[in-house]
Amino acid sequence: MEKKLLEILVCPVCKGELLYRKEHAELVCRADRLAYPIRDDIPVMLEHEARRLSLEEYDALKPRSVKAE
Ligand SMILES: [Zn+2]
Repeated sequence: MEKKLLEILVCPVCKGELLYRKEHAELVCRADRLAYPIRDDIPVMLEHEARRLSLEEYDALKPRSVKAE
């Protein structure tokens, strides 16, 4: 997917920043715990098309600095 496109995309729900998960072909909003699918290189920015992240996935997406050693 084009990097420029990614930079202008925001979450349609909260207008927040999205995280690109290349290996899953998804754009993730951490605030809403939603993952928007990317189909044929086209991000589907629709709330009803988004997948809710499991707690495990959500935890894995947290910045590493938050994790206590
Ligand atoms: Zn959001």
